[in-house]
Amino acid sequence: MYCKKCGEELEEESVFCTACGTKIESDSTSDEKPVEKNKGIAIAGFVCALIGIFVLPILGLFGIIFGAITLSNNPNKGTVRSLAIAGLVLGIIDIVWIAVNFAFNIV
Ligand SMILES: [Zn+2]
Repeated sequence: MYCKKCGEELEEESVFCTACGTKIESDSTSDEKPVEKNKGIAIAGFVCALIGIFVLPILGLFGIIFGAITLSNNPNKGTVRSLAIAGLVLGIIDIVWIAVNFAFNIV
């Protein structure tokens, strides 16, 4: 079975998740990997933030939001976590870029 919160694979008799520490109850585990859901959000955020760098910086907001959502789900898979962080950082760069442009346009 898998932890519903972080997707860690667990022994059937586990009481606590070994990855995120969530107490394992009948409704907190799943036989399906929830990581794929996190992965989709992480990829969406990363792609939005990346497009934001080159085309439309406001898309960086989605990078920040999706990255934060993914990280709050505590993904245990390195690639998902990396994508979420990358999307978050790129998104912040997008927003800073907007702020810099805005500041220079006013002056
Ligand atoms: Zn867990």
